[in-house]
Amino acid sequence: MKRTTERYTEKQFDTVVVGGGMAGLCAAISAARHGAHVALVHARPVLGGNASSEIRIHISGADQSLKQAQYAETGLIYELMLENKARNDYYSYSIWDAVLFEAAKKEKNLETFLNTVMYDCETEGGRIKSISCVQETTEMRIKFNAPIFVDATGNGTLGYYAGAEYRQGSESKHEFDEPHAPEVANNERMGNTILIKAYDTGKPVKFTPPSFAKPLTEEQLKYRMHCAVHKVDSSMAPDPEEWLRLSGTSCRGVDYGYWWLELMGEKDDIIPDYENIRDDLYAYAYGLWDHIKNGGNHGAENYALEWVGALPGMRESRRLVGDHILTENDILEHKIFDDAVVYGGWCIDLHAAKGLLDFEVLPSDCHHFSGVYTIPYRSYYSKNIENLFLAGRDISTSKLALASTRIIACCATGGQAVGTAAALCAKYGVNPRGLAPHVGELQQLILKDDGFLPGFINTDKADKARTATFTASSHKVGGEPEKVTDGITRRLDGESHAWISDGISASGEKLTMKLSKPETLSQIRLTFDSDFKYPIRVTMAYNRQIQQRIGVPAELVRDYTMTLKKAEKEVRKIVVKDNHQRLNVLDFEPTECDTAEIHITATNGADVITVFEVRAY
Ligand SMILES: Cc1cc2nc3c(=O)[nH]c(=O)nc-3n(C[C@H](O)[C@H](O)[C@H](O)COP(=O)(O)OP(=O)(O)OC[C@H]3O[C@@H](n4cnc5c(N)ncnc54)[C@H](O)[C@@H]3O)c2cc1C
Repeated sequence: MKRTTERYTEKQFDTVVVGGGMAGLCAAISAARHGAHVALVHARPVLGGNASSEIRIHISGADQSLKQAQYAETGLIYELMLENKARNDYYSYSIWDAVLFEAAKKEKNLETFLNTVMYDCETEGGRIKSISCVQETTEMRIKFNAPIFVDATGNGTLGYYAGAEYRQGSESKHEFDEPHAPEVANNERMGNTILIKAYDTGKPVKFTPPSFAKPLTEEQLKYRMHCAVHKVDSSMAPDPEEWLRLSGTSCRGVDYGYWWLELMGEKDDIIPDYENIRDDLYAYAYGLWDHIKNGGNHGAENYALEWVGALPGMRESRRLVGDHILTENDILEHKIFDDAVVYGGWCIDLHAAKGLLDFEVLPSDCHHFSGVYTIPYRSYYSKNIENLFLAGRDISTSKLALASTRIIACCATGGQAVGTAAALCAKYGVNPRGLAPHVGELQQLILKDDGFLPGFINTDKADKARTATFTASSHKVGGEPEKVTDGITRRLDGESHAWISDGISASGEKLTMKLSKPETLSQIRLTFDSDFKYPIRVTMAYNRQIQQRIGVPAELVRDYTMTLKKAEKEVRKIVVKDNHQRLNVLDFEPTECDTAEIHITATNGADVITVFEVRAY
């Protein structure tokens, strides 16, 4: 039959991001905020990738689930989680999806294309000219043209189509001399997983497995905790230290079950085998639940199955090669690269070679370390495709380094760095590699946007607060007002790096910035405390939920007025009510002034005010 219609359109952007997981979303928002006209092309109906309601992996980071809380990732990922925390006390994944969708929709320079799959690309002389996509819901084929592309597909699909150099499986010890590398290179990779969730109904519930369920026995599961009963006492929360101690040994229950339901397939490449693996995971998920319900006493008599994921999350596939391949040695030596743009701190988290089917070993072997490491800018762009950035788990690492960098907060901060870099590429008219002379500017923008880079502080010459004098209505010892310009925006190594008021008087507390000379300002940036000791992520895991507090972090400043003065006369006033963010950016018409007064009248519950940073532009 003759084709009668051609639904086809072509679009031009400054930056096209493919893949709307946390890495791609942060890349797209960041590029848009820095002035680039951005398209985010995403195959699914909801944003967030593995962290979305479709897959429900909770976000971990360099804080190692609170073992080193001072290293929590900030910037965009933290902003999104705080937004969620203010609206979603009961861990609804639908609300989390909406928070992410809203964040993308709000950006005026960002156009998001959901249910849109990139299936090909056109290259010329080692550059990507365009990508071809189809939006399956509308049957529309869309060609996106841009000077800069970001591969945030997880699998490195865009790089693969474009002919980018990539790696899979494990490097041999010989190649990088990594302590945990095998003598001979192999094709082992961590597998895909479907999560399940069940809840206690308070009365006995029957379960009949579907005919396709694959049975599992107690003997096969002897190294995998799979009881339903929580052995920890919730009345002890919120006491994070105690929960930390307990969570390692407690029964995980079936609230966040089970990360070890993991298969990697039999084929050489995990990607073409995805649907076979999916069907097997689906069958094992029901087989496992059948075992828990009907195969002996697992404390699950009253439990009903609420949710079984249908879309497996992927951990490991292609790693695109950049100008630097991050290795396990870089991580264990805690390298601070000159061109660091991201940091990580998760352990080298390796899984059993055959996943669930490796019945005789523990499902994971985590090599722990303290502290953090950095990832250089050179790991975030392709070595041979000159206009291709990488973000997320497909960045340039060895297998062993990926075992740490794949953690979602690390993927998201990488996305933010890449998005900012993409906008700088447009500003300077260069390719990712050509941005190298401007990496200092990129690092400063990351810090300015509430990122953290160990070993780097605010040295932004445009920030007029750095030469101003600060006084305050009161302060605690160690929380002197001038600390708001020491360049670090978190408690670190026993230092507060903040102005901390001595309580809050009935009329509030005042922080005053006296500029070194009158200036025309159009923006003030304030960074408040939120206390990293309390996690704020959305999670199905009960023992992670009860580490958290209900509501907005108490330490965050809630109500304040920022007044600009010239020769003691008020020239501008901005009133802020009900703040629940760490970074507050106040934009206003250019105003000549010599003083800024920040008068804080309420926090979200804390009895002192903590301000890490004031910047003035
Ligand atoms: C079971 C499991 C447990 C895990 N546990 C944790 C944990 O506890 N904490 C933690 O932090 N991390 C954990 N991880 C790791 C983490 O989930 C991933 O490494 C991380 O989500 C990768 O982020 P990303 O943005 O690179 O990719 P993804 O989250 O995979 O997002 C990529 C998105 O790109 C889209 N896409 C792909 N191809 C195309 C295309 N051609 N066109 C358009 N869109 C496309 C996909 O649909 C996908 O949504 C776990 C992973 C798994 C599977």
